[in-house]
Amino acid sequence: MHFYSTNNPSTRVSFKEAVFNSMPQDKGLYMPVTIPRLDDKFINNLREYSLPEIAFHVSKNLLGDDIPDSDLKAIIDDAINFLAPVVRLEDNVFVLELFHGPSLAFKDFGARFMSRVMAYFLEKGEKQLDVLVATSGDTGGAVALGFLGVPNTRVTILYPKGKVSEIQELQLTTNGQNIRAVEIDGTFDDCQALVKQAFTDKELNDKFRLTSANSINIARLIPQTFYYFGAYAQLLKQGINKVVFSVPSGNFGNIGAGLLAWKMGLPVKHFIAATNVNDTVPEFFRTGVYQPKPSVATLSNAMDVGDPSNWVRIADLFRNDMSALKNLITGYSYDDEETMAAIKFIFDNYNYVACPHTAIAWQALRDWQQDNFKQNVAGVFLSTAHPCKFPDVYPESISCKIDVPEQVKALTKKNKHLVALGKDFDGFKEYLLKNN
Ligand SMILES: *Cc1c(COP(=O)(O)O)cnc(C)c1O
Repeated sequence: MHFYSTNNPSTRVSFKEAVFNSMPQDKGLYMPVTIPRLDDKFINNLREYSLPEIAFHVSKNLLGDDIPDSDLKAIIDDAINFLAPVVRLEDNVFVLELFHGPSLAFKDFGARFMSRVMAYFLEKGEKQLDVLVATSGDTGGAVALGFLGVPNTRVTILYPKGKVSEIQELQLTTNGQNIRAVEIDGTFDDCQALVKQAFTDKELNDKFRLTSANSINIARLIPQTFYYFGAYAQLLKQGINKVVFSVPSGNFGNIGAGLLAWKMGLPVKHFIAATNVNDTVPEFFRTGVYQPKPSVATLSNAMDVGDPSNWVRIADLFRNDMSALKNLITGYSYDDEETMAAIKFIFDNYNYVACPHTAIAWQALRDWQQDNFKQNVAGVFLSTAHPCKFPDVYPESISCKIDVPEQVKALTKKNKHLVALGKDFDGFKEYLLKNN
């Protein structure tokens, strides 16, 4: 399969190039030249397949012969080694739990697949791959744990001091091996600026083979299609085939993957884009004007994005056809008060603790189902992270009911290793050069 840039549809690059470049020179995003429909036999028999089997079929459909079957199978079995169960809360309301991977967030799907694809494409004797990543929380943990122990790679994570939760910090700082954590005395934007400047620094680029692991990488998008098929398969087993997905959205990679799955033939009735007050996309659906704005801090901080980087992919999928977009996607947005009310409602009515991002997706699903009650469509809202990652959000009466997974309990016994730096580029550069 070849990939083009959304800014220049005549570009052609291989999968390997698209993965290592992350972003085309023209600052567009890579998209597959064709998005083949899966055959009906596969779609109709989805319920017969396990998640790794589905993942193999779907990625093979997109990638063709870029990776030989046996290698692709091995990558998938290693990357997608945890479940994504659909849990029923009531009639027509289901939650797709995407937090059973090592970092307890859905970003594990993308990060684990991408790291293994990168390692696969690194040829023997090639220079070590140096991954630089800035994180405001979930990305760093997923990337760190995704690359942990992957040969010929090294990851340097920059995170803002005092602005990630305790568990997130432990996930970043307790790995050792090929993972380094750098705490920056600044904001997430400062971390991102340092990483961006490193990519343009000649001396660093001469010395290191730098790559970014950010969410626009096509190898992070592809594996996120797998669980939409997997969820549909689980519902088919219960005799359900009319489904709407509600997706908590920030950079719009997750819902973008859902739309890619739909394009490949998954018969989804509708998608709901659920955001916090960073509502650029729901606002676009209301007004027809796409107006990026500065991001605002909220309880669902992984969705504090005012200019969603994956939106151009979605616009491109629909050739900017507004009515086609509106037929398939509805946007809803909620403030922190509504988010807390949703968390409480879910807890009181279902005895279920949702993370703040997840609660927003539930509220949007509920509102959509009320607006479209005649359609009798089963609703699935995506749970993107385990609630234990956001302990400060909940009142004691709810936080005491969160089951903290064993892997997190084990983390608290480990020692943190980190380097503390200021936000000036010279200090960061010196650190990189001295710690080769
Ligand atoms: C990253 C993240 C999101 C947003 O996903 P996008 O693909 O950026 O839209 C939602 N919830 C959680 C917990 C996340 O970590």
